[in-house]
Amino acid sequence: MNTQMLRYLPTFLALLLTSATDTPAAKPLFKAGAATANITPHLSVLLDGTIMKIGPAKNIHDELHARCLAFDDGETRLAIAIVDNTMMERAIHDEAKRLLKEAIGLPRENILIAATHTHSTPRAVSIGQGAANEEYHRFLARRIADGIRCAFNNAQPAEIGWEKGFAPQHVHNRRWFVDSKLVPPNPFGRKGDKVWMNPPRGDALIRPAGPVDTAVYVVSLRTVESKPFALLANYGLHYVGGIPGGTVSADYYGMFAKKVFEYVKGVDFTYPRFVGLMSNGTSGDVNAVDFSKPRERHPPYVHAREVADDLAHEAKKVYNELEKRHQRDITLDVAYREVEFAVRKPDTARLKWARQTMATVKPGKRLTRPQVYAQEALGLAEYPDKVSVPLQAFRIGDLAICAIPNEVFAETGLAIKKASPFKDTFTIELANGYYGYLPTPEQHEWGGYETWPARSSLLEVNAEKVIRKTVLELLKELKGERK
Ligand SMILES: [Zn+2]
Repeated sequence: MNTQMLRYLPTFLALLLTSATDTPAAKPLFKAGAATANITPHLSVLLDGTIMKIGPAKNIHDELHARCLAFDDGETRLAIAIVDNTMMERAIHDEAKRLLKEAIGLPRENILIAATHTHSTPRAVSIGQGAANEEYHRFLARRIADGIRCAFNNAQPAEIGWEKGFAPQHVHNRRWFVDSKLVPPNPFGRKGDKVWMNPPRGDALIRPAGPVDTAVYVVSLRTVESKPFALLANYGLHYVGGIPGGTVSADYYGMFAKKVFEYVKGVDFTYPRFVGLMSNGTSGDVNAVDFSKPRERHPPYVHAREVADDLAHEAKKVYNELEKRHQRDITLDVAYREVEFAVRKPDTARLKWARQTMATVKPGKRLTRPQVYAQEALGLAEYPDKVSVPLQAFRIGDLAICAIPNEVFAETGLAIKKASPFKDTFTIELANGYYGYLPTPEQHEWGGYETWPARSSLLEVNAEKVIRKTVLELLKELKGERK
């Protein structure tokens, strides 16, 4: 220490004393925001629907939205967008994320974008019949990015609570073991499938080929004055449907988003307005139809409304239970990894069959089931040998949210919940890209629609095992149990 330094010693000591008596710097406040972006197409845009049915939009029953949440703990920002769409290909997700990186510096790993799987929206994948609508794809990416930016613009000091309820009455496994003599040959002309998706009712049904997840997760966001401004739910139900062909609708997901307004106490409509969101859990093999009972027929929209209403009721019950348990001291984190998988491309014999089958197509006639799968085989042949699949997990306080870009079976979601190091964990499927159904290796062996090679079921047979393991590793990383 020289004389120069000695001169400053009293000041230095004074500073030292002040900082020692001062309270440590307060942790920045947890902030959150919500917003929606309208993504309704104009009429005549090609709608999705099932693999066999497609056609132009002729009517709009309810407007489509990207429903967005933004989270900020002062250090880390996370965003979630739940989008009224059947499924969106990787390029749309990547474009929305590129726009967000450019506009607000948000890294792609910190953004979770997922489709609900409503089947009455414009097609956002370049598969199936007819050309994809590039203009709508660009619009969709931009609007998702807008919605997330607005959610950040609306961010305010917030409190958050989460809890799960149950709604067993609307989830049924749609894959059934059926008397093997009665299972029809697969579209490639082979017998031997043990499982039939959406089978005809009757004595031939043996048992469902997998479980269902009956949980309804509720994540509630409120201002620090305890005024609710968003509620995110998660439920594992494919979609409900009952929507007339050519009609645009967000299905029960959109109906829930509206309905839940009425049920949560203290909601008001002043800006920024309350946002309800229903995310799809793991429902690749789960729908709202109980095949063990006689068929119920509903007029259009009635069944979807009934499901939305029941789930909004359940959300209200859960919200009331967790009212006093909202937290303000929240730390955010993300774990992200991309895993490469081989594509189940057709072999020479399958390609020969596909070309022969496509030669039988009659102009102007709807394709038969074998023709659809022949077309799919030719489509798959054009795919790269390997695809990179993004996997992601968010930590919001002690809540973990996983994201998988497939139609994930209920058993995979349940296994992740069970093995998660977090008490509260749920998975959002069809997130950050689209890589088809994700049957387990065992389900692949049993066969059925979800396993037949197509651009909607393309990953190698082992993919489920690797995805499940990787997601659990991401959760361990978030829990601080890094390897
Ligand atoms: Zn599906």
